[in-house]
Amino acid sequence: MSIIDLDLIEDHERFRAELGSIHPDGKRRWIYARKPKGRFTTWRTILGWFLMAFLVLAPFVKVGGHQFLLLNIIDREFVLFGMPFWPNDFYLVALLFLTGVITVVLFTATLGRIWCGWLCPQTIFMEIVFRQIEYLIEGGPKEQAQRKAGPWNWDRIWRTGVKVVVFFAISFGIANVFLSYIISSDVLLQYVENGPAAHVELFGGLVFFTFVFFMVFYRFREQACLIACPYGRYMSALVDENTIAVTYDFKRGEDRAKWTRADNEAKKQTASGSASFTRPEQKGDCVDCHQCVTVCPTGIDIRNGIQLECVNCTACIDACDEVMDKVGLDRGLVRYSSLNAVENGRAKVFTKRIKAYLAVWFVMVAAVSTLFIFRHDLDVVVLRQEGTTWVTMQEGIANFYRLQIINKTDHDIPYEMHVTSPHGFSIKNIGLPSHVGAEDILKGRFIIIRENDAPKTTETKLTIEMTTNGKVFHTITTSFIAP
Ligand code: SF4
Ligand code: SF4
Repeated sequence: MSIIDLDLIEDHERFRAELGSIHPDGKRRWIYARKPKGRFTTWRTILGWFLMAFLVLAPFVKVGGHQFLLLNIIDREFVLFGMPFWPNDFYLVALLFLTGVITVVLFTATLGRIWCGWLCPQTIFMEIVFRQIEYLIEGGPKEQAQRKAGPWNWDRIWRTGVKVVVFFAISFGIANVFLSYIISSDVLLQYVENGPAAHVELFGGLVFFTFVFFMVFYRFREQACLIACPYGRYMSALVDENTIAVTYDFKRGEDRAKWTRADNEAKKQTASGSASFTRPEQKGDCVDCHQCVTVCPTGIDIRNGIQLECVNCTACIDACDEVMDKVGLDRGLVRYSSLNAVENGRAKVFTKRIKAYLAVWFVMVAAVSTLFIFRHDLDVVVLRQEGTTWVTMQEGIANFYRLQIINKTDHDIPYEMHVTSPHGFSIKNIGLPSHVGAEDILKGRFIIIRENDAPKTTETKLTIEMTTNGKVFHTITTSFIAP
């Protein structure tokens, strides 16, 4: 039984009511995508290998003793490009994340799902690693479909077995890499040395995530982009008729028609130097060969226009260019363009909306850059000790304070504290060390004593300067209470 009443929908509109990878009755329609080849596939493959190398190496490369990228959300420890962020820098990490979201919004509104097609780890691993291995083990799409429709003979069993083992092994590797981003590569290598028995819980989690990755690449595939990915969902709210995306030029392509003998004749005349080649009988340039459909990893027909399922992988551009080369027509029937450009011949990238996004983006980048530039190496917190007011000491009236200094650098830093205003107040150290260790947090207490020549008020505002090697690195104001 169909889950939608297709009788009510006209044939050419059916793609709006169906997913290419799901039958009308709700069952999965397996996509046997043909291997694309062409300039975009080559560029995407080069970029994909570069990004995979970056993803795998980033947790293992050290900069100034720090992991290049560490995203330890459990202990709130973040290292971005070798720069460590402390819990009190969390606002910076949050602002960076927000700037990243606005960057993706800006890119999506301008260039469609460029992230999905070129940069997303799901697409890169699926198309450049797993699908290529599948072609090697199981052959092309036709062979795969025939084998799947046939019986479980020895040929099918061994190929499926090898594929499962190889997919699982690579998924295990990916799970380890992702774990090294969270618990750090040093800890991971230590755990590997200790063996799984010493860390059963973590190893169980690793096997679980290996299984998740395995299922994503073995079974779930394009459904991750169509159903699970939140970015894919909000993408449709961001694109409009000016967004540049993989687009079929329907003005040039329609009316589509199969290649005929009359087309061959017209092509021959072009070759002999006569008028430029146009297909006879008012036919469009699309020869209705379906090559753009057979390469599509999400099983859609780009000729139906921009669709939610299109991940902008460019495979159909390469497939169509190859066909255009063969029949002698211009490349680019399917190309990066916008609906407005195809329909009206006017490409308008910097619309009011894009300018507004750009303005917000510049503000965010400026704010984050400024905060980075003025980020302190030392963070200081001084608080009056809770539950105390004043005490009388031999030297005068005294108040107690708590001190915390965070040293974000990789070297020890000496420090000194002085009350600079008003006069007549001095600081007495209670066992505080004279320097803060590298990447350490110093915690302790000190006393401020009011000397005899100081103003005799019940509550006095004090200014304390913190210096290192004679340079002021922090100024604090606090209060002093007296009877
Ligand atoms: S329509 Fe083209 S660009 Fe979009 S997913 Fe299919 S092959 Fe990739
Ligand atoms: S590959 Fe090009 S010519 Fe062939 S069906 Fe697709 S758009 Fe038409």
